[in-house]
Amino acid sequence: MHWADVIAKDLAERSDHPLIATGISPTGIIHVGSLREAITGESIRSAVEGLGKDVRLIYLIDSFDPLRKRYDFLPEEYEKYVGMPICRIPCPCGKHENYAHHFVQPFLDAVDSLGVHCEIIWTHELYEQGKFAECIDQTFQKRQEIIEILHRISGKPADPNYAPYDPVCAKCGRYTKPLFDTYKFPYVEYQCSCGYHGKADVRKADGKLTWRLEWPAKWKIFGTAAEPFGKDHAAAGGSYDTGKVIAKEIYGIEPPFPIPYEFVQLKGVGQMHKSLGCSVTGLDAIRMTPPEVLNYLFLRVLPSRAIDYDSGLGILDMADEYDRMERAYFSHEYTDAEANSVRAYEIAQHNHVPKELPLQVSCRHLCNVVQMADTFDEQMKVLGRTVDLTDATDRDFKRIKRRCDCVTYWLKAFAPDKIKFSVSPTIPGGTKLMMNDKGFLQSLVSRMNDCVWEPEVISGIIAETGKISPIGLKNAYKVIYQLLIGKTAGPRLGTFLASMDKQFVINRFNQAAHSDM
Ligand SMILES: [Zn+2]
Ligand SMILES: [Zn+2]
Repeated sequence: MHWADVIAKDLAERSDHPLIATGISPTGIIHVGSLREAITGESIRSAVEGLGKDVRLIYLIDSFDPLRKRYDFLPEEYEKYVGMPICRIPCPCGKHENYAHHFVQPFLDAVDSLGVHCEIIWTHELYEQGKFAECIDQTFQKRQEIIEILHRISGKPADPNYAPYDPVCAKCGRYTKPLFDTYKFPYVEYQCSCGYHGKADVRKADGKLTWRLEWPAKWKIFGTAAEPFGKDHAAAGGSYDTGKVIAKEIYGIEPPFPIPYEFVQLKGVGQMHKSLGCSVTGLDAIRMTPPEVLNYLFLRVLPSRAIDYDSGLGILDMADEYDRMERAYFSHEYTDAEANSVRAYEIAQHNHVPKELPLQVSCRHLCNVVQMADTFDEQMKVLGRTVDLTDATDRDFKRIKRRCDCVTYWLKAFAPDKIKFSVSPTIPGGTKLMMNDKGFLQSLVSRMNDCVWEPEVISGIIAETGKISPIGLKNAYKVIYQLLIGKTAGPRLGTFLASMDKQFVINRFNQAAHSDM
C-alpha cells in the first residue's frame, strides 16, 4: 500500500472531518523543501477525499514571526526591522502589502498551479481575531509546568525566566519579554529595552506565543488531525516531542498524527541560477518542473526518504519516468516493484485521473521544440511535424503548454549549455567544408529529396549515407550539426530534422554542397 493511502485510511477511520495542517515561515527565500510539505499535505488530503471523507487542508503562514536578522538579500536599511513581526515590515520591492506577502505570495500563486487545494491562513490574523487568547492564558497559568516539560523532554536546563509569550512593544514595534507577575487576563505588562513600559492584551495581536507553545496551540485552534513537517522538528526532544506533551498536559488535546519528512537535496551541475547566482528556490522548482512531475517526485518515495532534486539533466529523466508510469497505469503492465510508483502517479492527479492515456509529448522533445520557435503557435507547428496533434484535446494542449513554459524557464536558468542550440537562419559563419563533406551532402540530398519526412526514415538515410561516405558516420553527424546550429553535436538527428521544414533542410545542405566554403 502506498504511504499516502496508509495515512489516509488511518485518518478516515478516526474522523469524519479530518483537518490536515501544513505551514511555511515566509521570512525569506522559500526552499524546495517547502514544496514537499505542501505536496505531501495535498496528497494525503486527496487520498482522504478519495475515501469519501470531508477533509480540509490548511496552509498556515507564519506571518507574525519576527525578522530574526537582516539576511544578505535585504538592503541595509532593513537592519532597523530586526525583531519586528514580518507582517509589519514593508515589502522590499514596494509592490506587496508587507514583507511576509512579498516572500510568500509568488510561492502561493505557484503552489496553486500544482493543484494544492488548501485554505491559506495568516497567523497574524489569528492573533488579531483572539484565537490564541485561551492558549496564551493557559501558558501564563501553567508556566511552571511548561518550564518543567521543556526541561524534561528537551533535556535542556530548566530556565526559570522562560517566557512562553512575547509581547510586541507598542512604541518600537519589536518583540520583548513580559513581566509575569503583572499577568491578569487579558493583560500583561512589559518593560521594553527601548525604555517603554506597556501593556499587551492577549486577545489581540499585541504579542505571540513562542514557537514551542504556538505550534500545539494551532493544533488546538484547528483540531489538526495530521501534519507533515520537516525532520528538524521531529528530532528527539525537538518541537514535536515537546508539542505533543504540551498539547496533552497544558492545552488538553490530542496531538496530530505526525508526518516528518526528510529534506530535499539540490543536485546537478545546474543548481546555481545562471543570472541570479543563487541556488534553486521553491519557486524555481515550480517554474521549471511540470506540476504533474513535481507532484509525482514527492510521492514516489516515503516522506522519511531524502529526495534529490536535480536541476540539471535529471529533470528530463524525472519527466520521462513520470510518462512511463502514466503509460503503465493505463496499460496495466508493470512489475511489482513499479506498483508503488504507478500508485504515486495516480495520487499525483489529486482525484482527477484522466479517463484515457493523455497525449504524451516528452519534455526532452519539447526542449528541442521550444528552441526552434518562439511563440506557442509556432512551437505547435514545429511539434506537429513529428507528433500527430489532430486529436489533441484542450487538456492535452494545456499540458503541452505548461511543459513548454517549464523547459523554457529551465533552459534559461539552469540547463547545461551542451543541450542548448539555435537553428541558424543561414549557414553559420566560419563553416569549413572539405570536398568529401560536400560529396556526402550531395548524396544525402539526393536520397532525402523523395523520402518520407519522418524521424526513423531520416536517421536511416543519414546512417547509410554516412557509413559509405569517405568521411565516415561520425564526421557526417558533425557536418550536419555544423550547418544547422554551428555546433559539433546537438539533438538526435532524426527527430530534430523531422521537426524542421523538409525543404529548409534540403536547401541548406544543397547550398553548402555547392558553395565554395
Ligand atoms: Zn514586494
Ligand atoms: Zn520598545
